[in-house]
Amino acid sequence: RLELLLLGSVGLPALLSAPIGHALARTVSTRLRQLAEGAERIQAGEYGHLIDEEGFNHSPTEMLQLVRAFNSMSRTVRRNVETIQATSRTDQLTGMCNRRHLMSEGYRILGVSIRSGVPCSCLMVDIDHFKRVNDTYGHPVGDRVLIHIAGIIAATIRESDMGARYGGEEFVVLAPNAGLNEAMILAERIRTAVAGSAVTIAHARILVTVSIGVSEYSQDPEFGANALDDMIEKADKALYRAKNAGRNRVESWTSLKREPDRLP
Ligand code: GH3
Ligand code: MG
Ligand code: MG
Repeated sequence: RLELLLLGSVGLPALLSAPIGHALARTVSTRLRQLAEGAERIQAGEYGHLIDEEGFNHSPTEMLQLVRAFNSMSRTVRRNVETIQATSRTDQLTGMCNRRHLMSEGYRILGVSIRSGVPCSCLMVDIDHFKRVNDTYGHPVGDRVLIHIAGIIAATIRESDMGARYGGEEFVVLAPNAGLNEAMILAERIRTAVAGSAVTIAHARILVTVSIGVSEYSQDPEFGANALDDMIEKADKALYRAKNAGRNRVESWTSLKREPDRLP
């Protein structure tokens, strides 16, 4: 009788609790697998991947806490990665694209133009006698002038164009779908907008001008490692000519080639 009593009081509850224990173990292992898969997706670059919290509602509280912490961590990772990516392609002073981003994204944009058989042009914009601005008013005022010019360029170009700070006081505009003539018109618009606006500081109005070289991409690059390098180099050579011709002017690479005797 005692044996039966013991069997009944120990064995029966064990027998009854076995399916419950099994179901619990299965729930926990399924949720853990979901978490492990989520972690793998983040590792693979799918930042911000979220796990559906609804499925965890009937899991132990600790599992729910875990999935909430996972989702919160995933959102933070995505936010931080986006911030780092934006910072790495932006010029800190002007907020424009930086040279590195121009060279990677510009390469992609130009590639699309070439494959689609549409034109793509480039402007190299350089502030005239900018050293004098720094020497006369100081570096911080020079910085304000740079921001001012960047603002004019950004306001003048199209949404599909790409404006970048290429160097100290040099800017590049990449204009997909624009042939040389259209790009010359855009350059002239930027030149006149700069010449017609001033940066006002405490006791002075600072007027600056820009010189601009314009080029269109060529199927047979002559300079640099690729079509983008070639186009930028040609715009730079055209800019050099604009400088030599007196500044506050726009020159194009084509006219350089047509009139080699007037090369600077
Ligand atoms: P040019 O008409 O021939 O282009 O003459 P320039 O004086 O503009 O050209 P130069 O290359 O002699 O001088 C460029 C100046 O730009 C020198 C440098 O101190 C200044 N500069 C470069 N980067 C910055 C910057 O971030 N902020 C400021 N304030 N000045 C800068
Ligand atoms: Mg320069
Ligand atoms: Mg300059």
